[in-house]
Amino acid sequence: MTFLRQDTRLVKVGNLTIGGSDEVIIQSMCTTKTADVAATVAEILRLEEAGCQMVRVTVNNEEAAAAIKEIKKQIHIPLVADIHFNYKLALQAIENGIDKVRINPGNIGRREKVEAVVNACKEKGIPIRIGVNAGSLEQHLLDKYGYPTPEAMVESALYHIGILEELDFHDIIVSLKASDVPMAIEAYTKAAEVIPYPLHLGITEAGTLFAGTVKSAAGIGALLSRGIGSTLRISLSADPVEEVKVARELLKSFGLIANAPTLVSCPTCGRLDIDLFSIANEVEEYLSNLKVPIKVSVLGCAVNGPGEAREADIGIAGARGEGMLFRYGEMVRKVPEADLVSELKKEIDHIAKVFEET
Ligand code: SF4
Repeated sequence: MTFLRQDTRLVKVGNLTIGGSDEVIIQSMCTTKTADVAATVAEILRLEEAGCQMVRVTVNNEEAAAAIKEIKKQIHIPLVADIHFNYKLALQAIENGIDKVRINPGNIGRREKVEAVVNACKEKGIPIRIGVNAGSLEQHLLDKYGYPTPEAMVESALYHIGILEELDFHDIIVSLKASDVPMAIEAYTKAAEVIPYPLHLGITEAGTLFAGTVKSAAGIGALLSRGIGSTLRISLSADPVEEVKVARELLKSFGLIANAPTLVSCPTCGRLDIDLFSIANEVEEYLSNLKVPIKVSVLGCAVNGPGEAREADIGIAGARGEGMLFRYGEMVRKVPEADLVSELKKEIDHIAKVFEET
């Protein structure tokens, strides 16, 4: 049996429900110093605007834990505290209204400390994410397996889960991140066979915007296509807004997002008579601000243009110095190349309004 995303337990994080359905929640992480409330809130609001549904901040000192209270007042999505070892910071974050804690119970230390965190979470209805990372596996697992393996990662997850279950705590989310794509895929696939809790997907330290996007899409895409994963984060060495954009595009590829526009554009070839790359990029940028499932096609010529446009809400097929404009599959008029983008934007606005009204 595999716990596909619709089969996992349901875990509440703020106003979100993770797991138990086909929905996949998009997360990101702030790059700011958490204690800098203004900068952190500004970044979170940008992330919200891009479509981020849950955001994590590092809680590495008391100032960061104290800032949570004020940050929470100014944002609209659940906030997650990233804690390493220090149970007092976890307690402070919980006290200050955090919505989820990412902490590995096996790293907290003495049993009373673990119990204190678990009891505080129980009292406030806050879940815990266990974050297994191939780069920081427990020594006893490295001794047993020799080096990080998917089996060792799953065993680590089960070890931490066991500690929480022993305390009758079940609001658990689990991640098993590795920067090695095949290892991460195998770890998550094995985990889905034995772990009934929702899985948070990620390829850790994936790299820069370009390389990290490809790596994340390869790894997370493979898992999403198998029905595994209830939340995800794309980890990039870039503005976290880019992480959200990539996440949305990835979910769109698998039909796992309802409110995202789609752009179909051709790679161009020798038949091309218009500046298609500029048009496609401008239209993509424009669409990135919309939260409606509008489909737009931008094709270079009449070979495939009308066919693709028929499948889209709005589309163009280029010709020499102009483009044929299609709406819901019907050619409506010819537009000079100079006006193509502005005319497309007008049509997109019109159709987006129709979506918003229905
Ligand atoms: Fe070439 Fe036309 Fe196909 Fe674009 S749509 S790749 S221009 S044949």
